[in-house]
Amino acid sequence: MRQRVLITGGAGFLGSHLCDRFLSEGYEVFCMDNLVTGDLRNVEHVASEPLFHFIHQDVTEFIHVPGRLDAILHFASPASPIDYLELPIQTLKVGSLGTHKALGLARAKGARFLLASTSECYGDPLVHPQREDYWGNVNPVGPRGVYDEAKRFAEAITMAYHRYHGLATRIVRIFNTYGPRMRMNDGRALPAFMSQALRGEPLTVFGDGSQTRSFCYVDDLVEGIWRLLNSDEVEPTNIGNPHEMTILEFAQEVLRLTGSKSEVSFKPLPVDDPKVRQPDISKARRVLGWEPRVPLAEGLERTLADFRARLAEPEPAGTRRS
Ligand code: UDP
Repeated sequence: MRQRVLITGGAGFLGSHLCDRFLSEGYEVFCMDNLVTGDLRNVEHVASEPLFHFIHQDVTEFIHVPGRLDAILHFASPASPIDYLELPIQTLKVGSLGTHKALGLARAKGARFLLASTSECYGDPLVHPQREDYWGNVNPVGPRGVYDEAKRFAEAITMAYHRYHGLATRIVRIFNTYGPRMRMNDGRALPAFMSQALRGEPLTVFGDGSQTRSFCYVDDLVEGIWRLLNSDEVEPTNIGNPHEMTILEFAQEVLRLTGSKSEVSFKPLPVDDPKVRQPDISKARRVLGWEPRVPLAEGLERTLADFRARLAEPEPAGTRRS
């Protein structure tokens, strides 16, 4: 019998790549999104496929999908620092009420449930690199608290549904991920640097650029999520690329690849911006036999081709993406 999956946040950056993957695996895909930060253009290439269905709905309201569901992947949430500063209440609601609704639906359907969690659960980490058994250093009342605490609550309620209701649950802690379809104006480092380099504008490096991140190409992340869903691992699992670099090095790599003559301009560091971040992926290697395969230069080339194409498109009126 054909498998049926619901992907909340399915029109977002990660959600839309997951829709592609599940369609290519032969699933019938229900993509749910309220389009606050998602964008229909991310799924327009599959819109006419008979096994793809778009449901325009806010996952914090009662959600309904007719018929059987084998899996639910809960990816709905604003996910960039600018987005959750602009949408603090929605971010808290989708992580808490939205996760509750998605879990309730999974229970009603007997579906396997996978939560998109985040390295933000580790906050500004005092342990480096971050292993899954580190409990984190999060400021609950700072500007990032709305995202970090919503995701920590989401993990707690997911484990409660597993323990209390026996639901088959999975939790992926996603580290910085990049690739085609990232929103250009979401304030994240990669879309900012790439669009600035392509437009010949200065690259805005926050602080002195010595803070570190480790960037994973989206196809690697999707493969890790696919394996996690199909595994028996209930406890949170890090998926990310352990290749760590400073943000200044990252900006310089974007300049090199684009051949841009843009300068670097230093701006104030946002509040509670983590100083270091690098996943320890020994667990994913051991349990899932997974590790990232796409080197940074190759992933950036593929992303650059997408950004060039989108920057060349005329922007339709009334859309939010670039
Ligand atoms: N950053 C930057 N310039 C920008 C956007 C971000 O220097 O225009 C920095 C940001 O302060 C952080 C890092 O790049 O240290 C990664 O930021 P991003 O928003 O991509 O993700 P985060 O890991 O902070 O959630």
